[in-house]
Amino acid sequence: MGAGGRMAVPTSKSVEQEEPLKRAPCSKPPFTLSQIKKAIPPHCFERSLLRSFSYVVYDLTLAFLFYYIATSYFHLLPHPLPYLAWPIYWIFQGCILTGVWVVAHECGHHAFSDYQWVDDTVGLILHSSLLVPYFSWKYSHRRHHF
Ligand SMILES: [Zn+2]
Repeated sequence: MGAGGRMAVPTSKSVEQEEPLKRAPCSKPPFTLSQIKKAIPPHCFERSLLRSFSYVVYDLTLAFLFYYIATSYFHLLPHPLPYLAWPIYWIFQGCILTGVWVVAHECGHHAFSDYQWVDDTVGLILHSSLLVPYFSWKYSHRRHHF
Protein backbone atom coordinates (compact mmCIF):
# COMPACT_ATOMS: atom_id res chain seq x y z
CA MET A 1 0.00 0.00 0.00
CA GLY A 2 1.12 3.53 -0.65
CA ALA A 3 3.49 2.55 -3.45
CA GLY A 4 0.73 2.22 -6.03
CA GLY A 5 1.44 -1.43 -6.62
CA ARG A 6 4.93 -0.66 -7.89
CA MET A 7 6.71 -2.02 -4.85
CA ALA A 8 9.42 -4.51 -5.50
CA VAL A 9 8.73 -7.94 -4.17
CA PRO A 10 11.43 -8.81 -1.63
CA THR A 11 13.37 -11.79 -2.81
CA SER A 12 15.23 -12.57 0.40
CA LYS A 13 14.85 -11.80 4.09
CA SER A 14 16.12 -8.38 5.14
CA VAL A 15 18.34 -7.82 8.15
CA GLU A 16 15.29 -6.63 10.14
CA GLN A 17 13.43 -9.83 9.42
CA GLU A 18 16.38 -11.97 10.37
CA GLU A 19 17.24 -10.05 13.55
CA PRO A 20 14.05 -8.35 14.84
CA LEU A 21 15.70 -7.01 18.02
CA LYS A 22 17.92 -4.70 15.94
CA ARG A 23 14.81 -2.75 14.91
CA ALA A 24 14.26 -1.52 18.47
CA PRO A 25 16.64 1.28 19.47
CA CYS A 26 18.41 0.45 22.72
CA SER A 27 20.93 3.28 22.81
CA LYS A 28 20.28 6.84 23.95
CA PRO A 29 19.06 9.18 21.21
CA PRO A 30 21.46 11.91 20.05
CA PHE A 31 19.28 14.61 21.70
CA THR A 32 17.90 15.38 25.15
CA LEU A 33 14.37 16.14 26.27
CA SER A 34 15.33 19.73 27.00
CA GLN A 35 16.64 20.12 23.44
CA ILE A 36 13.29 18.94 22.12
CA LYS A 37 11.47 21.39 24.40
CA LYS A 38 13.69 24.26 23.23
CA ALA A 39 12.93 23.39 19.60
CA ILE A 40 9.17 23.80 20.17
CA PRO A 41 7.97 27.41 19.71
CA PRO A 42 7.13 29.07 23.05
CA HIS A 43 3.55 29.88 22.03
CA CYS A 44 2.83 26.12 21.98
CA PHE A 45 3.25 26.10 25.78
CA GLU A 46 0.77 28.93 26.41
CA ARG A 47 -2.47 27.81 28.03
CA SER A 48 -5.79 29.25 26.88
CA LEU A 49 -8.80 28.86 29.13
CA LEU A 50 -11.16 29.71 26.26
CA ARG A 51 -9.62 27.22 23.86
CA SER A 52 -9.50 24.51 26.51
CA PHE A 53 -13.16 24.96 27.43
CA SER A 54 -14.08 25.02 23.74
CA TYR A 55 -12.74 21.46 23.48
CA VAL A 56 -14.78 20.41 26.52
CA VAL A 57 -17.97 21.95 25.11
CA TYR A 58 -17.32 20.50 21.65
CA ASP A 59 -16.67 16.96 22.90
CA LEU A 60 -19.56 16.93 25.38
CA THR A 61 -21.95 18.36 22.78
CA LEU A 62 -21.06 15.58 20.35
CA ALA A 63 -21.27 12.94 23.07
CA PHE A 64 -24.76 14.07 24.11
CA LEU A 65 -25.84 14.39 20.49
CA PHE A 66 -24.73 10.84 19.69
CA TYR A 67 -26.41 9.58 22.86
CA TYR A 68 -29.63 11.40 22.00
CA ILE A 69 -29.71 10.03 18.45
CA ALA A 70 -28.97 6.50 19.61
CA THR A 71 -31.53 6.38 22.40
CA SER A 72 -34.23 8.28 20.51
CA TYR A 73 -34.08 6.82 17.04
CA PHE A 74 -32.30 3.46 16.99
CA HIS A 75 -35.41 1.62 18.22
CA LEU A 76 -37.31 3.01 15.20
CA LEU A 77 -34.98 1.31 12.71
CA PRO A 78 -36.22 -1.83 10.92
CA HIS A 79 -35.27 -5.10 12.60
CA PRO A 80 -31.70 -5.98 11.63
CA LEU A 81 -30.40 -2.39 11.46
CA PRO A 82 -30.20 -1.74 15.24
CA TYR A 83 -27.67 -4.56 15.43
CA LEU A 84 -25.51 -2.56 13.02
CA ALA A 85 -26.31 0.89 14.41
CA TRP A 86 -25.35 0.17 18.03
CA PRO A 87 -21.79 -1.00 17.29
CA ILE A 88 -21.30 2.02 15.03
CA TYR A 89 -22.58 4.22 17.87
CA TRP A 90 -20.18 2.56 20.31
CA ILE A 91 -17.22 3.26 18.02
CA PHE A 92 -18.15 6.91 17.49
CA GLN A 93 -18.99 7.49 21.14
CA GLY A 94 -15.76 5.79 22.15
CA CYS A 95 -13.78 8.17 19.96
CA ILE A 96 -15.53 11.22 21.40
CA LEU A 97 -15.18 10.06 24.99
CA THR A 98 -11.50 9.38 24.35
CA GLY A 99 -11.30 13.08 23.50
CA VAL A 100 -12.94 13.87 26.84
CA TRP A 101 -10.40 11.65 28.56
CA VAL A 102 -7.54 13.43 26.77
CA VAL A 103 -8.81 16.81 28.01
CA ALA A 104 -9.03 15.41 31.54
CA HIS A 105 -5.53 13.98 31.10
CA GLU A 106 -4.25 17.46 30.23
CA CYS A 107 -5.88 18.76 33.41
CA GLY A 108 -3.74 16.29 35.33
CA HIS A 109 -0.65 17.79 33.70
CA HIS A 110 -1.80 21.37 34.51
CA ALA A 111 -2.00 22.07 30.77
CA PHE A 112 -5.69 23.01 30.67
CA SER A 113 -5.38 26.51 32.15
CA ASP A 114 -3.09 28.76 34.14
CA TYR A 115 -5.13 28.02 37.27
CA GLN A 116 -4.46 24.80 39.14
CA TRP A 117 -7.90 24.86 40.81
CA VAL A 118 -9.62 25.08 37.39
CA ASP A 119 -7.56 22.17 36.09
CA ASP A 120 -8.34 20.08 39.16
CA THR A 121 -12.06 20.92 39.08
CA VAL A 122 -12.48 20.18 35.37
CA GLY A 123 -10.24 17.11 35.63
CA LEU A 124 -12.19 15.76 38.61
CA ILE A 125 -15.55 16.25 36.87
CA LEU A 126 -14.45 14.78 33.53
CA HIS A 127 -12.51 11.89 35.03
CA SER A 128 -15.35 11.05 37.41
CA SER A 129 -17.82 11.06 34.53
CA LEU A 130 -15.59 8.47 32.84
CA LEU A 131 -15.30 6.46 36.09
CA VAL A 132 -11.57 7.22 36.42
CA PRO A 133 -10.35 8.49 39.80
CA TYR A 134 -8.74 11.87 39.08
CA PHE A 135 -6.34 12.68 41.89
CA SER A 136 -4.87 9.21 42.40
CA TRP A 137 -4.48 8.91 38.63
CA LYS A 138 -2.89 12.38 38.48
CA TYR A 139 -0.16 11.54 41.00
CA SER A 140 0.60 8.08 39.67
CA HIS A 141 0.51 9.28 36.05
CA ARG A 142 2.98 12.11 36.75
CA ARG A 143 5.44 9.54 38.01
CA HIS A 144 4.93 7.62 34.79
CA HIS A 145 6.04 10.65 32.75
CA PHE A 146 9.30 11.15 34.67
ZN1 LIG B 1 0.29 12.18 30.57
